[in-house]
Amino acid sequence: MAEPLDQPTFRLIKSQRGGDKLPENGYMFGVQRRIGDVTHWLCEQRGVCKARVHTKGMVIVKRTNEHFHGPDEQAAGCCEAKAGMKRKARESQDSTYHIVGESLQTASEGTAAKLPKLDSLKQTIQRQRTSVLAAPAQPTLAELALPAVYQQTAKEEQFLLYDSGADDVHRFLIFATQHNLGMLQRSKIRLADAPSRRHLPLHPGVCGAWTLCRR
Ligand SMILES: [Zn+2]
Repeated sequence: MAEPLDQPTFRLIKSQRGGDKLPENGYMFGVQRRIGDVTHWLCEQRGVCKARVHTKGMVIVKRTNEHFHGPDEQAAGCCEAKAGMKRKARESQDSTYHIVGESLQTASEGTAAKLPKLDSLKQTIQRQRTSVLAAPAQPTLAELALPAVYQQTAKEEQFLLYDSGADDVHRFLIFATQHNLGMLQRSKIRLADAPSRRHLPLHPGVCGAWTLCRR
């Protein structure tokens, strides 16, 4: 094993898919293989560039081959910014505008200039949210954990208004928007329906009901 080079430590960043990336002096490396506690990294310009580094722990212990291309000082910043936006899209209830705006504000001027156009960033965020829309496996009421995307409408209005909580043996959730509640309040006739046991197995106590209210 070669002696550690004069490069004591490095930092890793997360790729948009959640993998590790190693930014170094304007070049980006992706994991090629891991052998024991040594990781082999290959320059991201695969097929073009043969530059590699080996790391052990948090130390670069070996470099092989020179890059065939110049560095891109903003590559790491762009990668971090895009990965951060995707993570927020999956995990937060912030609006698309808020996520993009916050990322652009916190990115350096150079990074912001190199990021994709605004519409493209918005599409990326919306695709992330769509990708987690796949219906979750049918949990019990206590296990039910609604992802943020299920708590808002497509127009990013709050849709889950109340959740009595996992500790409630008769847990119930109220879905509506404030706008729709306002319409309901102003309505002179209210019709109500409840799904049957077959349609909503999470609520075994709920059976078909039909209500007509006149104010
Ligand atoms: Zn390279």
